[in-house]
Amino acid sequence: MRAEGGGTGCAVVHSAASVHAAPGLQHREPVVICRGRVSVGCPHGPVPVDADGGVVGPGLVDIHVHGAAGHDLTEPDPAAWHRVLDAHLHAGSTTVLATLASTGPAGTAAALATAARLLDGGLAPTLAGVHLEGPCLAETQRGAHEAGHLRTATEVLHELTPLPTALRMVTLAPELPGAGTLISYLTGQGVRVSAGHSAATPEDLARAQRLGLSHLAHLWSGQSTLTRPDLHRIPGLLEASLASDGLTAEVIADGHHLPAALLTIALRCFGPQRLCLVSDATAGTGLAVGSAFRTGASRGRVHDGYAATEDRTSLCGSVTPLAVTTARMRELTGAPAGDVVTMATATPARAAGLYPRKGSLLPGADGDVVVLGPDLSVRTVILGGRPVTGEPRGGAR
Ligand SMILES: [Zn+2]
Ligand SMILES: [Zn+2]
Repeated sequence: MRAEGGGTGCAVVHSAASVHAAPGLQHREPVVICRGRVSVGCPHGPVPVDADGGVVGPGLVDIHVHGAAGHDLTEPDPAAWHRVLDAHLHAGSTTVLATLASTGPAGTAAALATAARLLDGGLAPTLAGVHLEGPCLAETQRGAHEAGHLRTATEVLHELTPLPTALRMVTLAPELPGAGTLISYLTGQGVRVSAGHSAATPEDLARAQRLGLSHLAHLWSGQSTLTRPDLHRIPGLLEASLASDGLTAEVIADGHHLPAALLTIALRCFGPQRLCLVSDATAGTGLAVGSAFRTGASRGRVHDGYAATEDRTSLCGSVTPLAVTTARMRELTGAPAGDVVTMATATPARAAGLYPRKGSLLPGADGDVVVLGPDLSVRTVILGGRPVTGEPRGGAR
């Protein structure tokens, strides 16, 4: 991770149009970072950073990242992880949950071990843990997840005992047999549980929420919807989600997964304090149109601005970093800049149990900062008080 300059992790960011320190807390004072943490002052001669009239916010927090630059995070090689994290850091994501799509038990365990080594050694400053997306998912809502690698809740419980230290979030289908036991096991040890790739009914969702489920993976994608088998309408997981209270939820605002009207509905139902922007970025991120890539055990291909499975039956994650979806969310919904920043920082940080150390610029928070232009494009990234410079480590092209 090349975060250079400001060797002591001391910096001061000034001349901002506005500083979004936390939801509802905007000011125009300089942001001072002392030895890697947001502070009220710094006696060490902090490196000056001119925001040049830009919008200053906390570094972006992406809780759903599968890969970038031709590499998928189910590859156990730490060099692959560094390339992925580096690509996302340069794009503005200073905190990432490494998200593993469904693959075999050995591959999943190896990737979890890589994450643990990177975290224990302090070798990947933007890595905040692992988000396991699957493999306990509903066959009918599996999307790009390989059917052959889906497993029962009991099998997954066995695989995750003892609890892997890097594990921070699990997306599962709460309606499947044995899911309740798995949810209780995970939430009892502080792992966040999310409903996704699921055909849960409102009752299934409510039961899971009572067991500690707190989050919803990508709304509309991999969610069952309204049916009317007879005279009466039966809500699916989508409608249950939109009507829910107390849950956080993800949207992929890459301009391909969800049109403007659906993003607007999501924002009205959840509000910026419960709606998280995520990238769902795959290995295809940064690759040329036509490139093939792997995500978990599945294959995808890059198209113009999106990725699809080889048979084009499903979108296959995205090829868009979080910062780009943040700008697009504003464009498509007209939401105020402060709300959009909240949805890419404080809200996902809270969903992952990382707030306010991540996702805020409150005193004591990690000194991770983005400076955004008026269109919310990323101008400058600061990690732990050190401006991020240079090009990302070599990608696949
Ligand atoms: Zn998914
Ligand atoms: Zn995903």
